[in-house]
Amino acid sequence: MKANFNVEKLGNGIYALIRTEPASLWFNPNNIFIIGDKYAIVVDSNISSEYTREVLAELKKLTDKPVKYVINTHWHEDHIIGNRVYRDAFPGVQFIGHRSTLTDLPTIGAANREGSVQNGRGFIGRLEANIEKGEDFEGKKLTEEEKIGYTSDIALVSSYLAESTKFDIILPTVLVDDKLELKQGKRTIDILFLGRAHTGADLIVFLPNEEIAITGDLIVHPVPLVGSTSYPLEYGATLEKLRGLKAKIYVPGHGPIMRDDTYLNSMIALMNSIKRQAEASAKRGETFEQMRGSVNLEEFRRAFAGESQHRSFIFRNYVTLPAVAAAYRQLNPSAAASGSL
Ligand SMILES: [Zn+2]
Repeated sequence: MKANFNVEKLGNGIYALIRTEPASLWFNPNNIFIIGDKYAIVVDSNISSEYTREVLAELKKLTDKPVKYVINTHWHEDHIIGNRVYRDAFPGVQFIGHRSTLTDLPTIGAANREGSVQNGRGFIGRLEANIEKGEDFEGKKLTEEEKIGYTSDIALVSSYLAESTKFDIILPTVLVDDKLELKQGKRTIDILFLGRAHTGADLIVFLPNEEIAITGDLIVHPVPLVGSTSYPLEYGATLEKLRGLKAKIYVPGHGPIMRDDTYLNSMIALMNSIKRQAEASAKRGETFEQMRGSVNLEEFRRAFAGESQHRSFIFRNYVTLPAVAAAYRQLNPSAAASGSL
């Protein structure tokens, strides 16, 4: 079976493995290899060891050097579950992550994982039933794009669940606060924390000489992935710092390679609008329900999703709903702490 990625060479020893699964409700991330004279660096692992083994097999076609570092851009399942594949293959490998991973992965991460494992079978059942009935989650007639997306989701969830009894979660062994600079021969590799955004632990990998930014889920295409563990009030500012690095090439966490700022600018406009609207709502003293009614992202949904029913659903469920909930929590810490949300 052909693996679900295309390999794109971005420079001497720099390869991006760009996933070919369609944009849908479950995710597998792009991976990047940075290969030097003595060792290789891999950015992110995958949603299961099965997928990570395919990625490692690809690396072995390109080099016989060992992997010295795996950089996890954040602690979400799809970026870390396959870490063990590298540890098993390269006993000396180090895992680089943001310091807050040490707190967040065993707590919020573990709770999310438990939810995914518990609900996984049921989710597959709903996807299968939707395909069978020819209906989507909102009871609308299933489009071809939705059918392709659901079919891909079933494969991703199945691969994840198949390993769920023996998950081996690896915490970072090298911690980053704001910046870690690696030297790989003549190459400089900056691992940067630019601020909270998609999570509180988003690292980007910046190659200043090659002008390449590997962004993790700070950038996700075709629909941004704000998600429930995000910081929407800071997301826009963090993306502006990313833009300030003036990279010529962006490798997003999910989606194709980008060679200009067009998409990044659209994401910045979206995030800044969420912040403006949520803050205005809080100033008016609105409740959570009222904020959900008053924050209007319709213009952005149209821009990102176009006429696609599937992408509109993704936008509502991965941008609008979680962004407003997370913004409300950020603006009303006492409501969040009391569990009234
Ligand atoms: Zn991701």
